[in-house]
Amino acid sequence: TTTPETRKFEAEVAQVLHLVTHSLYSHKEIFLRELVSNASDACDKLRFEAIAQPDLLAGAGELHIDVSADREARTVTIRDTGIGMSRDEVVENIGSIASSGTRRFLEAMGSEQKADARLIGQFGVGFYSAFVVADRVTVLTRRADAPAGEGVKWESDGRGEYTLEAVDLPERGTTVILHLKEGEDEFLEPWTLRSLITKYSDHVAFPIRMPKDAGDGDAGADADAGTDGEAGAQAAAPAWETVNDASALWTRPKAEIGDEEYQNFYKALGHDFNDAAAWTHNRVEGSQSFTTLLYLPSQPPFDLMMGGRDERKGLKLYIKRVFIMDAAEELLPNYLRFVRGVVDADDLPLNVSREILQHNRQLERIKGACVKRVLDLIEKLSRDEPEKFAAFLKAFGNTLKEGIVEDAGNRERIAKLLRFSSTKGEGEARDVSLDDYIGRMQDGQDAIWYVTADGHRAAAGSPQLEAFKARGIEVLLMSDRIDEWMLGHLREYAGKPMRHVAKGELPLDEAEKQKLADAAGAAAPLLERIKRLLGDRVEDVRVSARLTDSPSCLAMSEWEMAPHLAKLLRDAGQ
Ligand code: ADP
Ligand code: MG
Repeated sequence: TTTPETRKFEAEVAQVLHLVTHSLYSHKEIFLRELVSNASDACDKLRFEAIAQPDLLAGAGELHIDVSADREARTVTIRDTGIGMSRDEVVENIGSIASSGTRRFLEAMGSEQKADARLIGQFGVGFYSAFVVADRVTVLTRRADAPAGEGVKWESDGRGEYTLEAVDLPERGTTVILHLKEGEDEFLEPWTLRSLITKYSDHVAFPIRMPKDAGDGDAGADADAGTDGEAGAQAAAPAWETVNDASALWTRPKAEIGDEEYQNFYKALGHDFNDAAAWTHNRVEGSQSFTTLLYLPSQPPFDLMMGGRDERKGLKLYIKRVFIMDAAEELLPNYLRFVRGVVDADDLPLNVSREILQHNRQLERIKGACVKRVLDLIEKLSRDEPEKFAAFLKAFGNTLKEGIVEDAGNRERIAKLLRFSSTKGEGEARDVSLDDYIGRMQDGQDAIWYVTADGHRAAAGSPQLEAFKARGIEVLLMSDRIDEWMLGHLREYAGKPMRHVAKGELPLDEAEKQKLADAAGAAAPLLERIKRLLGDRVEDVRVSARLTDSPSCLAMSEWEMAPHLAKLLRDAGQ
């Protein structure tokens, strides 16, 4: 071996490390979940690469993950027989921050340097969580397709630098050794490690093993037996026992899975500290068989709040239980990008590429089924759990509105789920559905009326509402940026036209029509004069029944843009 080379972390890594170690402390035990999840990802990757190159799986036996503690050395070790890393990959993946999401996260945190743990968990800073409990971390790794002599040893105290060294490693895969900080001895207890595995990693689809009899806390000496090659192989086999369920959760019958198991699986999958709001787990048998397990989060992930669109992790495509790729874009339309989960298809070829997936008819069917399941799930939430539903809409309602534009086939179903504030609702609360509105429509009223503005107060205070209030007609108050765009595609609901209060004709009875005609006659000379004065700036000047208190207002012809949309477009330079 050569002398170790010392390198500096990328500036951002140092920053992330600082944030992580200071904000994750109250959740420090998740380091084990993160490292086991990396080990599991590494096994997934190896299994996937082995489809094309079966000999990658030779040696090192079955794919598995070993967790052990050494009381003397005060270390916790997580070892996997997965894909491993080359020297370049170590530098790339652990010495720098490859993900654009993490960069955005850092920018958003800015100078405050205060992040909440929930956000950090979502940003793939997983590996660095090791430094919450360890003051030194050693990684030994060898890529599955590299010879024994091309092992890499990486080591760091998590401050500003790390060392890299070439080492001989007889077996492929990665070993992460945590040298525990003072005061973190609880993680040396096999019982503690074991219960953390059960709590956070039970669903991992590969066996997670611990030294046998680890329960009595005296078996530390056996801990290395599994890794010392041929000689130890015979003795090693009985020395380790599998401590997780090791079956893919979604392949088990629903009736056997408890809520807590579903929630734990969600948290690992979605990198979320919060419970999911709801989930749906289904198996479709037939000419094409597949399983879906889909979750609605209860809080928006960070990138969604930031308007990000490229961070779409958390919907995983498996084929016959082999992880293929993160495929949110292939499996769900954009407006459902908050959904997390797993799709496991039986009949797709294992060697699919993203390009193939994009034009695959079987996948189209699966996608259709996923959309249906998710909309069913949201509907069920709206029916059965109004409070959770309200929180869900608060987080994702505006994302869902994009579906009105994006998914014409489900437009009516999506519209049914939306809630608005209205002149008959409570202040700013968005709790009126289009069905509520229709249920309260006046006799003879044939349209659903709404007003748009760039804020709730502007909408609620619009002079256009006067005539509607006077007649007791409810008006929906739309003030989200996306509303105008959405309403451009929601021309009707349940057979009722949707009308902007400044467009279309007011519903008038015979007497009112007569009064209007008389007033128009009497005001004719005045109208002429105003029209002459305003010239091209207006199309027409008319007597109107819209107003009760104000002397005049601006109105639009049927197809004109709402004033604040016109302003938005102007601001955007269009
Ligand atoms: P994430 O898992 O979200 O990508 P992490 O910080 O947990 O982020 O890990 C960073 C990267 O380091 C991983 O994407 C992977 O490329 C690499 N890595 C971490 N642990 C392992 C491992 N046990 N085997 C192979 N690669 C690993
Ligand atoms: Mg990870």
